[in-house]
Amino acid sequence: MNTVLLSDSNNELEKASDLIRNGEIVGIPTETVYGLGADASNANAVRKIFEAKGRPADNPLIVHLADFSQAKDFTTYIPELAYELAERFCPGPLTIVLPKNKKIPMITSGGLDTIGIRIPSHPVMHRIIELSGRPIAAPSANTSGYPSPTLAEHVMRDMNGKIAAVVDGGCSEFGVESTVIAIEGKSSVRILRPGCVTKEMLSELCSEVIIDHAILHELEAGQKAASPGMKYKHYSPKANIIIVDSDLDSFIAYVGANINDDVYSLIFDKDKDLFPYRYMTYGNDSSEQAHLLFQRLRELDDVGAGKVFVRAPKTEGVGLAVYNRLIRAAGFEVIRI
Ligand code: AMP
Ligand code: MG
Repeated sequence: MNTVLLSDSNNELEKASDLIRNGEIVGIPTETVYGLGADASNANAVRKIFEAKGRPADNPLIVHLADFSQAKDFTTYIPELAYELAERFCPGPLTIVLPKNKKIPMITSGGLDTIGIRIPSHPVMHRIIELSGRPIAAPSANTSGYPSPTLAEHVMRDMNGKIAAVVDGGCSEFGVESTVIAIEGKSSVRILRPGCVTKEMLSELCSEVIIDHAILHELEAGQKAASPGMKYKHYSPKANIIIVDSDLDSFIAYVGANINDDVYSLIFDKDKDLFPYRYMTYGNDSSEQAHLLFQRLRELDDVGAGKVFVRAPKTEGVGLAVYNRLIRAAGFEVIRI
C-alpha cells in the first residue's frame, strides 16, 4: 500500500475523512500524540489498526468524538461527575471510561464492556471527526511497544506502506497521551494512565483522586490491569533506558563509572554546562519534558545509543505522566542514589 502524506488544508482533510468513511486508517495529529484513526463503529476498519500497530487484541482503543454531547450515543450510562469533568476539561487531553453500547464493537474496546471517550482539541483531528461523521478510534500511531509519535515523520517511519495516509499537522503540543480516568463514585475518580490533565487539576472537581498502583509499579504475575495498556512493555526505544534518580553530582559520578562507547545521557537543559559526557536534553520543567520525551527517545535510536542514563523527572503534576512513560521505557530499571 502506498501511504500518502496529506497537508492540513481543507481539501486534504476531506480526503482523510473520506478514507475513514471508507474503512481505511489514517495517521492524524492530535494535541497529545499522533493517532492512528479509523471508524470506531466499523470492526473491519478497527482490525486494520491492530494489524498495522501489531497491537495485542486485548488493549482497548480510545473513541474520539467532536463534542461530549455525543457520548450518550455510544454509552449506556453517564454519571453526573463525567459531565462536570467534560465541562471543565473537554476538549482536551482527558479520556473518561464509560459503559459502552452496541454501536461500538468489542474489537474496539479490546473485549471490555467499557469504552474510553475523548474529545480532542486539535483542530485537524476535530475537523476530521466532523467531516467523517464517525466516532474515531485512534491509538497512538506508533508500532506497538515503540515510543509514541509526536511528528508526522515519526508516523511515516513506523507506518509507511501499512496505512492509507498521514496528515501532517506539525508537532504535538503536549507530547504524551491523554489522562485516562475511571469514575468510581459520586465525587471520586481513579487515574488509570497519567497525562496532562493532572491529579492536582482533577482534585479541583473531585473529592478523591486515586492514582492506580500500576502507574508507577510493575504488575505482579497474575495481577489484572485496570488499564490494559499498563501491562505491556511500552514506549520503549531499542536503546536500553535506565533511570537514575539522584542529584546532578551523583548522576555525573554514576555515568562516569559506567561510561562506554555507546552510552548517552538524557539530562535537563540546566545541567548542560556541568555535564562532561555525551548527552541529549529534554527540557527543564515537566511540561517541556512531556513535550520532548518521545522525540528524544526516537532520536537516541537514530544516533545509535546502546545505553541511556536518564535524569529522573519529578512525579508531581505533569511529571507523573513523564515518569510513567519513562519507567516503562526503562522496563522498571531505576537506580536510586
Ligand atoms: P493508546 O490508544 O495508545 O493511547 O492507548 C489507550 C490506552 O487507554 C489503553 O492502553 C488502555 O490502557 C486505556 N484504555 C482505553 N480504553 C479503556 C477502557 N475501556 N478501560 C480501561 N482503560 C482503557
Ligand atoms: Mg499507545
